[in-house]
Amino acid sequence: MSELSDSTGSTPTIRPAVAAGGKMGALPLVYLVGAGPGDPGLITLSGAGALARAATVVYDNLANTELLKHCPEDAELIYAGKSSGDHALTQDQINDLLVSLAAKLKSDPGREGRCVVRLKGGDPYVFGRGGEEGQILRRAGIPFQVIPGITAGIAGPGYAGIPVTHRDFTSTVTFVTGHLQDSSAASAAADAAETEGPGVNFTALAELGGTLVFYMGVKTLPALTAKLMAAGLDPQTPAAIIHRATFAAQKTLVSSLGSVAQAARQAQVKAPAITIIGRVVTVRDELNWFESRPLFGRTVLITRSRQQASMLAESLTALGAQVVEAATVETIAPQDFSEVDRFLRQLKSYSAVVFTSANGVDAAWRRLRSLGMDSRAWPDRVAAIGPATAAALAGIGVTADIIPETFVGEALALELTKCFGKNKTGAAALTGQRFLLLRADIARPVLREELLRAGATVDDVAVYRTVVPKELPPAAKTVLASASLDWITFTSASTAENLWTMLTAEQREMVRRIKRLSIGPITSAAMTRLGWPPTLEAASHDISGMIEALLQSEG
Ligand code: SAH
Repeated sequence: MSELSDSTGSTPTIRPAVAAGGKMGALPLVYLVGAGPGDPGLITLSGAGALARAATVVYDNLANTELLKHCPEDAELIYAGKSSGDHALTQDQINDLLVSLAAKLKSDPGREGRCVVRLKGGDPYVFGRGGEEGQILRRAGIPFQVIPGITAGIAGPGYAGIPVTHRDFTSTVTFVTGHLQDSSAASAAADAAETEGPGVNFTALAELGGTLVFYMGVKTLPALTAKLMAAGLDPQTPAAIIHRATFAAQKTLVSSLGSVAQAARQAQVKAPAITIIGRVVTVRDELNWFESRPLFGRTVLITRSRQQASMLAESLTALGAQVVEAATVETIAPQDFSEVDRFLRQLKSYSAVVFTSANGVDAAWRRLRSLGMDSRAWPDRVAAIGPATAAALAGIGVTADIIPETFVGEALALELTKCFGKNKTGAAALTGQRFLLLRADIARPVLREELLRAGATVDDVAVYRTVVPKELPPAAKTVLASASLDWITFTSASTAENLWTMLTAEQREMVRRIKRLSIGPITSAAMTRLGWPPTLEAASHDISGMIEALLQSEG
């Protein structure tokens, strides 16, 4: 047994007291992690770190599923549900599950250092039953830790431009559950039996005033505002309700205590929403940053090939747009690996192995590993066509020796000739040199041709294939079908052509009705051929140019 597992107290003969309450000091098997309110940037470093070590994640409906990208590929992901009416698992089932997952992990020596993550929206201990889950774990003798998250009651107002405290208005902020059991009871008679848990003292709340933040109170808003007014809180007190706070779809409605329930009903505000009551709401006029970003409220569908950097998506998101991505190229394994394997087994015999995409690096490395080889298999020199490919190599522990100044096949051939030609040029420059190109099935032939022309021996092998996906991902389908899509972007002729093949006749027609942004003339020509002439073409034919064009058009 290793020292590490020794210290977890897993040997009952040494630590018989485990069953009687566990050891707080042992290495945690389970982490109760706060996911934050929605914006995937609002998880803590510790929370993301726990996800990165997760063997299993049990996540709630309120935790943004984008966060699951922090998990290792082999992590088991279990949805525990819990939007109202959708209880994928009951609380008792969740409790049992956490205990059994922890026990399973503990008895699996292959998973040392891994953990079970219970990922909960906001903060686990704020109206999230995280306290109960912690108690269950503790009683079962399972070492766990809590990693707090940013609760919706603070982040939501913050993103709506409302500071929960402010020296001019209040020195207190109170978090209250609006989860009254009888949602139709508009009566001001606050009966403790009506409320979940120990009940809410509305008289005390009204007297305290300050900032009141209500969770879970959309359906019960008429009842709880009535109770507050009956207890003496001024109906003119400013109030706001924030729906889907910190998401691109955030909506804020500003009103007063007396009118907010009716206003919310008229606007059909649904859960999840935070209601904030107090004079701090007035500060929003000055501090509303999130909803006043230039592309806030716009939905943009981005067509892209997998290899392309996500800079367009990231920039548009930062400017406030809701971005939905549709990959127009998919990478798949070759039909038959036998040829690839033959070349991989003689890697060392080459002067250099040459990569022209990050996908090539990933595919080759995965195959190499599955053949039982490792990093010692590489030849002395490894070439990359550009920084993204070099970064993928760095990711597997290989520093690219050769990267051309411009990131195209011609330049890479020239650079290889410089390195291996020993100052010779022309037809014999690379005589005796052998290169292995590990690329896509549709890679441009120019690199191979140039190397051959210089006298080299070249093996050009497809380690992966690119295909056009059969259909749109679900999120893209949904926005295309809804009236909510504002723009669709095209960054190359092939993104337009591939998208066209992926769509049904009806979907093609929908694209015609949406504003279309093109990166430049070649793309525009292809779009026009397809019956989708661009609404807008970027003046400078790059991603920054596209962003500039959108901002000008929407600004
Ligand atoms: N533990 C969570 C709260 C869980 S209770 C936290 O700390 O935030 C669920 C309630 O939280 C919802 O009904 C809603 O009132 C609030 N909530 C959670 N996420 C929200 C969001 N993105 N926008 C608005 N309200 C949210």
